[in-house]
Amino acid sequence: HSTGLQELDASKITFTPNENPKAVPEANSPEVTKMSSCTDHMITATWTSKTGWTAPSLIPYGPLALQPHASVLHYSTSCFEGMKFYRGHDLKIRLFRPSLNTVRMLNSSARISLPAFPPAELQKLIETLVAVEGEKWLPKSRPGSFMYLRPTMIGTAPTLSVNKPNEVLLYIIACCFPDFNDPAATLGAHANANNNESPNGNSETKPRPGLKLLASKEDTIRAWPGGFGFAKVGANYGPSLLASDEAHLRGFNQILWLFGPDSEITEAGASNFFLVWKTREGRTQLVTAPLGDGIILAGVTRRSVLELARERIGGEELEVVERKICMWELEEAVNEGRLMEAFAAGTAYFIMPISLIHYRGTDLHIPFADDNYGSKLKQWLMDIMYGAESHEWGVVV
Ligand code: PMP
Repeated sequence: HSTGLQELDASKITFTPNENPKAVPEANSPEVTKMSSCTDHMITATWTSKTGWTAPSLIPYGPLALQPHASVLHYSTSCFEGMKFYRGHDLKIRLFRPSLNTVRMLNSSARISLPAFPPAELQKLIETLVAVEGEKWLPKSRPGSFMYLRPTMIGTAPTLSVNKPNEVLLYIIACCFPDFNDPAATLGAHANANNNESPNGNSETKPRPGLKLLASKEDTIRAWPGGFGFAKVGANYGPSLLASDEAHLRGFNQILWLFGPDSEITEAGASNFFLVWKTREGRTQLVTAPLGDGIILAGVTRRSVLELARERIGGEELEVVERKICMWELEEAVNEGRLMEAFAAGTAYFIMPISLIHYRGTDLHIPFADDNYGSKLKQWLMDIMYGAESHEWGVVV
């Protein structure tokens, strides 16, 4: 390579098995819902500006050693991915479109001056961890279950100088993760996801599932043009907790992130936001915010929803539109009875209907029909993830 530095090379991996493996927790047990339980192993690789990447290692899961003045601890030189691996109903283990995650991780790392790597090599490392952990942590007795993967890159350089770190650690861990679509799994702040009572005591709506969202205010903007909202960097999440904690305390599940003087709807929690409405001309549209301004995270689920909606529905039945959506447009659509449904789409919550949006003191009740598009798209995606439909998006490990 022109740099003379070592490339990340998954084929050089070394293996050190864990001699003290843990027991696999029961589905929906507290350590699962708290997202505190990781598997027996992790993969690490280090990089320095002098050498490039070292050979990756698969080692027992355990604490990292960092200097207190390591770059990441002060300057948020951290980026990560969130993805799942699935035990199919055909008993095969699959990843879902992993190349989209590895390319997004490369884009995220570039935004915070962390080193580049071939995304295909990262994917091979992810597949290696899944191959090592899959049989034990997603046993064949649990078809239809999944685990969460967190590839992460951090600046480890031990210096307080505000500079691009010259030492970096890449690691991949796998963790137990609750199924937010299963009412039995929801706890704490998520407990309202499937009940039917408005946080404000308004119970006129019929029982139905759905997220209750609190619209963000001017003092807690998630992302802005020229910023880094498009990147999955740690710096996007810490400052979001003030708003989401308030939402949880007030009985909402997530924040609806707004931006700008027109209160553009950008995202919902750590998910992309979709709605289905009828235009005044009577056309049915599936709408989500566009990626162009750099304030929207390019969700893998978002992209998959858009592609499936265009390929399998589309036409006269459903126009698929990426465009700015302002709160006043949503309010108008609700008041005129044109809003048909809204849902959040992302790896963690998957496809989750939205039942209520609280904006400037008012509850907007979001309709939900039994034959909603969100459920249809969710079923198609699940069929691919769990192997009911053989599709190139489902990558067998
Ligand atoms: N928006 C944000 C801010 C997120 O953190 C995520 C989770 N990665 C998403 C949207 C959804 O992206 P994906 O479908 O790739 O999980």
